Amino acid sequence: MAALNTLGTTGRVLLVDDSPIALEAIGSRLMESGLDVVMTTSPRESLGLATEGSHPFDLIILDVMMPEMNGHELTRRLRSNTRTNNTPILLLTSLDSTDDRVNGLVAGADDFFTKTAPDAEMLARVRSFISLGKMRAQLQAQHEAMARVMREPEAPTPPQARVEIIHHMPVVSERLARAVRGSPVGGEFQLTQRAPSQRMATSDADLLVVSYAVALEGDQPLLKRFGFDEEAPAILVVDETESTSRRVMAFDAGADDYLTLQTPMAELAARLGSALRRQRRQRQLRTSRDRAMLVAVTDPLTGLYNRAYFHEALGVEFRRAQRYKHPMTLVLLDLDHFKQVNDNLGHTAGDQALREVSQRLRQTARSTDVVARHGGEEFAMILPETDLEHGLIAAERFRAAVDGATVHGARGGSRALTISAGVGCYPAHATSMSELIELTDAALYKAKRQGRNRVCAVSVGAEPAVAPPASTNTPNSVLERLRRLLAEDVEGPLTATRTAARMLHEASAPGDTLHTITSQLRMSTDEVRQELLRLMDELSRAVLDAGRTGAPHGEQK
Ligand code: GH3
Ligand code: MG
Ligand code: MG
Repeated sequence: MAALNTLGTTGRVLLVDDSPIALEAIGSRLMESGLDVVMTTSPRESLGLATEGSHPFDLIILDVMMPEMNGHELTRRLRSNTRTNNTPILLLTSLDSTDDRVNGLVAGADDFFTKTAPDAEMLARVRSFISLGKMRAQLQAQHEAMARVMREPEAPTPPQARVEIIHHMPVVSERLARAVRGSPVGGEFQLTQRAPSQRMATSDADLLVVSYAVALEGDQPLLKRFGFDEEAPAILVVDETESTSRRVMAFDAGADDYLTLQTPMAELAARLGSALRRQRRQRQLRTSRDRAMLVAVTDPLTGLYNRAYFHEALGVEFRRAQRYKHPMTLVLLDLDHFKQVNDNLGHTAGDQALREVSQRLRQTARSTDVVARHGGEEFAMILPETDLEHGLIAAERFRAAVDGATVHGARGGSRALTISAGVGCYPAHATSMSELIELTDAALYKAKRQGRNRVCAVSVGAEPAVAPPASTNTPNSVLERLRRLLAEDVEGPLTATRTAARMLHEASAPGDTLHTITSQLRMSTDEVRQELLRLMDELSRAVLDAGRTGAPHGEQK
């Protein structure tokens, strides 16, 4: 998987060199390998292309010695622009001095190679950085999209970086440790050293500095295990002596850098520092994206799951229950006379009450239960693997947990809270998810009618699980059919689109346009489905309300 990923790499590269001959020589090699290459001899023009062009680049390759502006200065400028601060930058050098390399890395370049480097080595390096660039761009885009939706501030400060050195020679290990400590990264990090004999199951390091043998040889080579996983640490391979073929193998397997025991100390330090900086930034983006995703499914007032997540989770649980023929229970709860809390004690007290009730429900539920805020003062709980008998016991526990909670108004006064609950069960009560929701909702209203602060199960018989054929055209049954079509949508256009999107998504490589478009397509079909289901919910509530207030043939008075 790892190797496949880089060998088939396509990507956009910006190549800058003041010498048209060098430009042509390197550019043509890159194009022959299938890359889309934009070339310029002018550093100033390149700055414009990279920071203002309509298509971002996956990789920027810069000559160091250029009269107009040298590669180090250009790197610094690219790094300070938000469009290019994450784009991998490789520097081209004709001279091969340590100072030059160190300065390049300090300026913010990711790596460099000499113009005389063998083709295979250059291409391996380019491919590995293009993969990195795409992954970073994707993380950055996800981060920005989430940040816009959530109005999240900047990415959070990452925790202390962890560096781990694995080498069989203590002398080498020590030397590497000194280089890490002397690296110009700034910031704190935690360093551990160990021998390869200590087998490691997983690593939570951000940066692994390992011998060639640990990385690529033996029955469990480290790079095979991590490959190009987004969560993988940066892996720096340390070889005994320079070998082009081993260098190429390391990069193709996903190594972040290849060093040898001959690499000068200052360069070693600079390279380790730059790898650590890259990894930190990546982790920062990942953390902030994950946090934003959590925010997207969380109700801000109570910290419970929100309605959108609840419907998604119920779908998953329901299908699982159907497939494995396991029971599951749905509990819908609604605070009693909650309007009076707001009216008498104020909205702030009302909010406080909602938080208090949420906490009690969460504490009373099992860790595998899903507890969500379904609406204003309504809650929904999914109890997987729970039949009617145990579902009723659980619901009674939730009711009792809320019973007696007291909310105080800011200007005096207090009220005791109670909650009513409806309990519905698969397969005892319903055969489809929408039917389960509807019947459970009806059970909740029954609990309200019977005096509140109580639990009612779906009444079998009174509200038939399957509508009789005679009433197929009542508003309720029409709605029910529509909802079933939507919720299950077995062969419907939404599912078909989603399935096609998923298959294309899986067949494409992360970072490809196809990959991005297909994930958007999957999301938007979900959104359409959610929105339609929400409308159905509102419609059926309206139908239910109309039935309750005016219908003479309703089952209640
Ligand atoms: P019932 O026992 O029949 O459920 O009566 P109720 O008063 O609880 O029901 P109703 O649906 O008439 O009123 C619900 C009230 O919940 C309306 C609104 O004031 C309150 N509410 C809904 N969302 C929030 C919220 O986020 N914060 C606060 N403070 N109140 C809310
Ligand atoms: Mg209420
Ligand atoms: Mg209500």
